This record gives sequence, structure tokens and C-alpha cells, in this order.
Amino acid sequence: MADPLPLQDKILMLPSDENTTGRTLGEAELAFLTEVIRSGSLATPYGSFVKKLEQQFADLLGVKYAYACSSGSAAVHSAIATVNPEPGDEIVTTPITDMGALTPILYQGAIPVFADVESRTWNVTAETIEPCLSERTKAIIVTHLFGNPCNMNEILDLAQSRGIPVIEDCAQAFLAKHNNQLVGTIGDIGCFSLQQTKHITTGEGGIVITNNDAFARRMCLFINKAWDYDDPRPEHYFLALNYRMSELQGAVGAAQLSKLPEVIQQRCAVATQLTKKLKGLPGIETPWTNPRNIHTYWRYCLRVDDQVIPGGPVGLGESLKEKGIVSLPRYIQKPTFQYEIFREQRTFGNSRFPFTIARPEALDYSPKRFVGAFEGLKNLLVLPLNEHYTDEHVEYIASCIHQAIQNNNFSS
Ligand SMILES: *Cc1c(COP(=O)(O)O)cnc(C)c1O
Repeated sequence: MADPLPLQDKILMLPSDENTTGRTLGEAELAFLTEVIRSGSLATPYGSFVKKLEQQFADLLGVKYAYACSSGSAAVHSAIATVNPEPGDEIVTTPITDMGALTPILYQGAIPVFADVESRTWNVTAETIEPCLSERTKAIIVTHLFGNPCNMNEILDLAQSRGIPVIEDCAQAFLAKHNNQLVGTIGDIGCFSLQQTKHITTGEGGIVITNNDAFARRMCLFINKAWDYDDPRPEHYFLALNYRMSELQGAVGAAQLSKLPEVIQQRCAVATQLTKKLKGLPGIETPWTNPRNIHTYWRYCLRVDDQVIPGGPVGLGESLKEKGIVSLPRYIQKPTFQYEIFREQRTFGNSRFPFTIARPEALDYSPKRFVGAFEGLKNLLVLPLNEHYTDEHVEYIASCIHQAIQNNNFSS
């Protein structure tokens, strides 16, 4: 049992990633932005900041290619367009993720096939992916949810034995590691988001990375309407969008990137402290991570046992809300395949395409296939975590949780 903590009778304002209190935006960003405005070149082909961001991101991760784009969803879309599925081909992915990681699959005419997750990490595993593979599988997307890496060794063994490329969605997992390898560099393509709440931000933005020369060319073209600026006689080679990041975002991104290692270090330190203060509390499980992992904590997730704590994560979340701690019980509430877009197959006009050309087994969303996902969401309480949390903030959060559990002040 952890040491007793002081009673919290006042509300302490926590740093928030929605505004300046919980972000690392400052003079460096302003200086670069001023430079962009003074230059008058706000679009990437004429400026230098997006190129700088791409080069520095590639260097930091130790990969050959990094391309900035307009969002994390655009990054995932570019990755899928890069593997170039035929209509009706399948992309195996997770049912617990941001919708922006799923809709690009449908836009490319492919079918998301959902693999179950392991309930204590909310991540897909080789075991859950394997039964989803078919002769139509064109790629596997693994999502390192909340900053906690998937078990990549087993997943890569499986994928390589079938010759299937692996896309890593690292939107929540900057600089996280599995077996000393940075996520995003383990599979074939890595995708990142620079949206407001992620580890570093340009408001909206994304980055895709790869070591594969052919993939690199295709993803760069996809972001640029398939127009090659370096080709002496350029052409629009294939169906593609304008997913470019602007120089304004590039300037902010380049400044933010230099702060990333420090942000990660702080977040890991905060999480370690919080775990120390919550260990041993009845009905609460602190984040589990494989000992071979470095978890970089986009959020801090508890498993709340509703057999021990009446009301489970919802009850605990309510009681923390009274203390000004905004948590998210059950994260996305239900697996993504239960949202209207999948339930009603709302896509292009009334066509239901590409669901209409899917194998029936690929659309089997029956709950018995997703025991881990339902079980995982039922107990999940997503707590905020921020690089600006001080010892006082950590102690406040921990003692509010202790208090809520001791008082047992949920409807029982
Ligand atoms: C945020 C996020 C995305 C989408 O990124 P946007 O920048 O919001 O488009 C995709 N996948 C995951 C896991 C995310 O957390």
C-alpha cells in the first residue's frame, strides 16, 4: 500500500494541452514564424522550414525519409496509398483508435479488418492479427496506443512470413521504443500526428517516415498531387491529393521538434512518479508495459475494477471531475466498428462502396471476436498527463484518486 497522501480540499488547476499551460510553444516558434512571414513564402515548395522539419525528424529517428503533411490522418492515408491496395484489398487494423486512422483505408477503396486487442494494453498482438490475415491482406497497421509500443518482434515475424508490409501508427507514441528500437522505424512505414494534443504540435500536422526508397517516392508524390517538382518534365502520375504542410506549420514544427526529447523525458518522469503513488491501491491497475518497451505516455491509463470500485472508471472519473481532473472513462466508448460509418456503411453516395466488394468474413464485427476490446474499454480510465506537471500536480492527482477510492463516494 502506498504512503498516505494529504487530503485535497482545494481544486488545483492542471496544465492543459488545449492551451499555453500545457504546451511548449514559445519564443523559438515565434522567431521561426516571423522568419516565414518576412520571407513571404508560406508554401512548402518555396520555403525551407518544412524541409528542415523533415530532415531533422529523419535524423532524430535515424531513417532515410520523412515527409511532413497536413495531419495524422493524412499521414495514415499517405501510408495506405503507398502500399497501393486494389479495391477490396484488406488492411488489418485495431478497433480502438482515432477514426482518422481508419477512414483513409476506405478512401483508398480498401477494407479495414479489425483485429482484437490485448485488454491490459489495448494493443493488437501477433495472436490477434493472425486470424485476420487472408490472401487479400495488403498491409497491417499497428497502433502504439497511448504511447505504449506493441510487441513488434512477434508482429514482424508474422508479417514477414507472409510478405505483408507493416505500417506503425505512432501518433501517440513519439520516441517510444520496443527492444531499443524507436517505433515508426521497426515496420515499413511510420505515421505521426502533430495535432494540438500530441507530444509536440503544429495545431494540425503529420509526418510519414520510411527507409524504403520506392515507398518514399510514392508517399512524397501522394502528398504533392503526384507532381514531381524535380522532374524536368513533370506530370500528374496518379490519383493523389494536396496533403502538404504549410511553411507556417513547418516553422512551428521545427522549433517544437528540438523540444521533443525533453518533453518525453518529463512525461516519463511524471508517469513514474504517478505510478509510485498509485501502486497497491485496491481495484486500480497502473499502466502495464512490456519490460522491453519504453512507453512515452501520451495519456496515463488506469484499469479500474468495477467489482472493487463501484461505478468502475465512470464512477471514478465523475469523482475526479469534481476535483477539476478531466479524465476520459472508456476512451472512445465503444469499438470503432460500432460507429455509424461502419454500422450503416456510409461512404460514397448510397453505394456503400467498398464494403460491397468485401469478403463477408472481413466484415464480421460480432462481439465474440472482440473479447479483449470490450473488456479493455469497460475498465479503462484515461487520465491526462503533461510534461509541465510538477510534483505538486502529481501529488494532487494521486491523492484525489486515493480519496475517491477511500470515500467510496460513488453510487454503490
Ligand atoms: C491523433 C491520431 C490520429 C489522427 O491524427 P490527426 O492529426 O488528428 O488527423 C491517428 N491515429 C491515432 C492513434 C491518433 O491518436
